[in-house]
Amino acid sequence: MTKQTQTFQAETKELLNLMIHSLYSHREIFLRELISNASDAIEKLKFEALTDKALPSAAEGFEIRLEPNSELKTLSISDNGIGMTYDEVVKNIGTIAHSGTKSFLKVREELKSHPELIGQFGVGFYSAFMVADRVTLHTQKAGSQTGVLWESDGSGTYTIEEMPRAQGHGTTITLHLKEVEKDAKAEEGEVQDFTNPWTLKDIVKKYSDFVSFPIKMATTREVAPGADEGEEAQKVDGPESQKDVKKETVIEDETLNSCKALWLRPASEIKEEEYHEFYRHLCHDWVPPLKTVHYKAEGTTEFVSLLFFPAQKPFNYDYRDRKIGLSLYVKRVFIKSDCEELIPPYLRFMQGMVDSDDLTLNVSRELLQQDRQILRIKKALTSKILSSLKDLLEKDRPNYEKFWKAFGATLKEGMATEPSVSEKLQELALFYSTASDQLTTLKDYVTRMKPGQKAIYYMTGDSLSQIQNSPYLEKLKAKGFEVLLMVDHVDAWVARSLRNFEEKPFQSITAADLDLNTEEEKKLEQEKLKEVEVKFRPLLDAMKETLKEQVKEIKLSDRLTDSPVCLVSSSDQATSAHMERLLESMGQAVPKNKRILEINPTHPLYEKMLQISPTEQEDWTEILYQQALLNEGSQIENPLKYSQKIAQLMIASHRA
Ligand code: ADP
Repeated sequence: MTKQTQTFQAETKELLNLMIHSLYSHREIFLRELISNASDAIEKLKFEALTDKALPSAAEGFEIRLEPNSELKTLSISDNGIGMTYDEVVKNIGTIAHSGTKSFLKVREELKSHPELIGQFGVGFYSAFMVADRVTLHTQKAGSQTGVLWESDGSGTYTIEEMPRAQGHGTTITLHLKEVEKDAKAEEGEVQDFTNPWTLKDIVKKYSDFVSFPIKMATTREVAPGADEGEEAQKVDGPESQKDVKKETVIEDETLNSCKALWLRPASEIKEEEYHEFYRHLCHDWVPPLKTVHYKAEGTTEFVSLLFFPAQKPFNYDYRDRKIGLSLYVKRVFIKSDCEELIPPYLRFMQGMVDSDDLTLNVSRELLQQDRQILRIKKALTSKILSSLKDLLEKDRPNYEKFWKAFGATLKEGMATEPSVSEKLQELALFYSTASDQLTTLKDYVTRMKPGQKAIYYMTGDSLSQIQNSPYLEKLKAKGFEVLLMVDHVDAWVARSLRNFEEKPFQSITAADLDLNTEEEKKLEQEKLKEVEVKFRPLLDAMKETLKEQVKEIKLSDRLTDSPVCLVSSSDQATSAHMERLLESMGQAVPKNKRILEINPTHPLYEKMLQISPTEQEDWTEILYQQALLNEGSQIENPLKYSQKIAQLMIASHRA
């Protein structure tokens, strides 16, 4: 067949136009794409050779070869894979038959700002035009006697002709590299020279290190004459003293990738250090992970994953723009890092990678999110991560506590956002409590519950020191009931989602409906309160009048044993005092809920109060209210006025 000139389809033209004129950053990914195609072609041949004995098998020495030529300004990428027939070239390269390309055109706007996503779009070959103004493809199908030469400058047409390929089956793609003008955006040094061996080595290491076939390149080095094989070569720019020695140039093949997909090797053969090295490479974290999980999922969803639990919080952990997620590989080819679709937000501390063979990755973010296969992987990973944490908790408590202190607050978010895993997360949660200064699990808390204890009690606040001595704890301490002290910034929010653990209800101890008494105690208590109520009624009414703007109700209660007052929220109130403070600190306008001021009638202060003048009563009432605010960790409106009042009282008490 003679040389023919064909026209690209309109859509292909548009695609090429975009490649050539819009994509400036991340241009290096073209190499990943072409190496990925080469690797696929070899995989295909290997697979076909299993059944077709006439085809070359693994013994052949499969490889991918890079040949840069700085004089001609070309780079070629060759493989000895399956190759293509004439018709296949027309179908695969000449037209836009495959769905990926069509989808690509749909999301081209998104791609303009994120060209690195290109690898997901099945337009790999065309990315050659990001760096080349002319591309030739010379291919020969395994088993065929003749090859095909395809060539295009990407502007609208291509030529195609039959031409045997000297090396036999396989494909060579030659890029005639563009003269890159530095556009305004390109910083000094950003323009890469794709004929420079070091640049190529870096790109291969970065994106294709784990391709399972060797990626080779001929490199030259100079050796002193007569140097034995294996003897250390002397670098061209070696020490001064050796510069005079006459050197010979030796050309030799260098394999640029390590060829080993770590995750595909049996876990039993992998040393811990190898995992750590991979973790460093993948996550740029120099502190080895706390735990590594090498997970092979089998069944409906098959994939391999390396999961790392970092030992420390990265410095940018709480930054809004921190990228999260795992690296995604498809068939050992790196697709993208920070694939947040693979894990739920409450596991965003996780690092690692997933390699799936049966992923068909198409198009945009939205589709990636909805991809059923991705959703299945996410589900399987979530349950693996949670079971691994459970394992760590049970077998290595000190390290688990380390993990918990760094990432527990993040994990807890899941209790509020994911009801389906809330129970599992409750099993994993650790809490400070009034029982000791150690962290406790809920399970252990429950075993320590006292007979007659109706609920799992908790209190939220800003810090341990602030709530450890809170008046709200008084009666619970007296009764010997343990209280969970929840002081993470997410706790006010998380606590609201807590319902039951092992059929025991959770109960906030600052709620008005806190009920610690047995039926008998309740009766006695009510009788007692009734008695004192008669005595204190006029005082309570006066106090209510003073604080009518601030509180909803003032009532006697047996909640306190030592302190005179406290504020509680009624259960119909949407936000607790702690939650209000939190929202305020986030700059949100919070409608102030009026709360209930509870009075401890056994406190001697009230007997005194019955004897003082109404004006003094007013002052005392205000002071008591402000103390209640301070005790719960809230701010008082006018601290200066408060301290002046206290000072006056001190003087008055001395005079008396
Ligand atoms: P994708 O690889 O996502 O299918 P490409 O545009 O990169 O998209 O390639 C289109 C098709 O061209 C491939 O599916 C494959 O059939 C064929 N092809 C590309 N490169 C090679 C190669 N080096 N050897 C054999 N076939 C190739």
